[in-house]
Amino acid sequence: MESKMDKIISLCKRRGFVFPGSEIYGGLANSWDYGPIGVELKNNIKQLWWRRFVQSRDDVVGIDAALIMNPKVWEASGHLKNFSDPLVDCKKCHERFRADLINVKDPCPNCGTKDSFTESRQFNLMLKTFLGPAEEAANIVYFRPETAQAMFVDFKNVLQTTRKKLPFGIAQIGKAFRNEITPGNFIFRTREFEQMEIEYFIKPPKKDEDWQSIFEMWRKEMIGWMKEIGIEMEKVHEFEVPDGERAHYSKRTIDFEYEFPFGKKELYGLAYRTDFDLKNHSVASKEDLSYADPETNEKIIPHVIEPTWGVDRTVLAVLSSSFDDSNPERLVLKLPYKLAPYKAAVFPLLKNKPELVSKAKEIYDSLRKDFMLTWDDRGNVGKRYYSQDEIGTPFCITVDFDSLEDGAVTVRSRDTTKQERIKISELKNYLSEKIK
Ligand code: ATP
Repeated sequence: MESKMDKIISLCKRRGFVFPGSEIYGGLANSWDYGPIGVELKNNIKQLWWRRFVQSRDDVVGIDAALIMNPKVWEASGHLKNFSDPLVDCKKCHERFRADLINVKDPCPNCGTKDSFTESRQFNLMLKTFLGPAEEAANIVYFRPETAQAMFVDFKNVLQTTRKKLPFGIAQIGKAFRNEITPGNFIFRTREFEQMEIEYFIKPPKKDEDWQSIFEMWRKEMIGWMKEIGIEMEKVHEFEVPDGERAHYSKRTIDFEYEFPFGKKELYGLAYRTDFDLKNHSVASKEDLSYADPETNEKIIPHVIEPTWGVDRTVLAVLSSSFDDSNPERLVLKLPYKLAPYKAAVFPLLKNKPELVSKAKEIYDSLRKDFMLTWDDRGNVGKRYYSQDEIGTPFCITVDFDSLEDGAVTVRSRDTTKQERIKISELKNYLSEKIK
């Protein structure tokens, strides 16, 4: 039987959410392209996030930094030295594995040979390239493995231009690259992916409660976000990362894990990074990255709480949470309306009746100024409904012969399958009201 994951991947390909990358050339392992409706879903997620965590808050501002930074950044942050995973090879089949994700005492998961693994060694995940025409050591640069460092490197500029007072955060959405040893599980673990991150700067805490209360505020914010985007909360688990497993600079880390169809795995993270980052960059860059406390005039190095969200893992968790094939007749993607690629589909009842087509076109053209819409005139209306259900379109609007007389259309809801007659002049209000 097809697994839920296989069904999601096949829906994504069939309907244009996500395609295998470079497919006509045989693909490129674990690279994926977002198709026409996938990019809408992904952009809706990013816009909602930006609206919620940047534009709606006085204490967070955004940046959009370069993907390739001065390599000294990665020296100072510790990535060049420490950003690695433990790697083992199977001596028989030469397949490579992350030693922390398998039991090296078990037979090789690929060829089944026992006691076949090499000693574990550290493999750096930074993706290298050259900047400039000469491929020499002096020109080696790295694609950023996280968006976070730009928020520390730009801290001084942001502070000077915005005059923000602590506590405040800097947010960014953007691509990150990691030469993962074992990418896989569709868009869950890839070598090129997107992150939404906030570095939230606070005064050096005088007592634990000072940072703990802000950590708790962000923990709740992250839960609020997951609820807003329709993630099944009963499948979300908070994992308190124990001493010894946390990054060395972190005093506390929570991983938000989600029960993906292939198992419980990290979706998001929340960490208290102390003053590790700004301190290190101050020393390495010889720039003063301190903050002058307006109350005491003291110069302090802010501490940081970092909530981080993977965009692609969000897309996958949203798809998985909204995928409903409990009715064998009808597959429905119960996306929150805000995230749906199309808010409504417009149909003429029959495509060979010019008067219906032109009325439907008129409605389509007028509503698409305000809503992302799609048009369908193929097959019969029932088939069009199913086709829209599969991609999560909340409403279908059909123009029929009565519409020409009574100035009303049939609006059918994805979630209730109920149909109601709505005046054309009321459609905009109707959709705004529902989608809000
Ligand atoms: P993992 O343990 O799964 O490798 P991580 O702890 O290394 O993840 P972070 O460094 O905390 O991940 O990155 C922040 C977020 O970025 C993660 O919570 C996840 O949502 C996302 N992310 C990290 N690595 C990848 C990847 N290879 N592909 C897709 N998303 C990723």
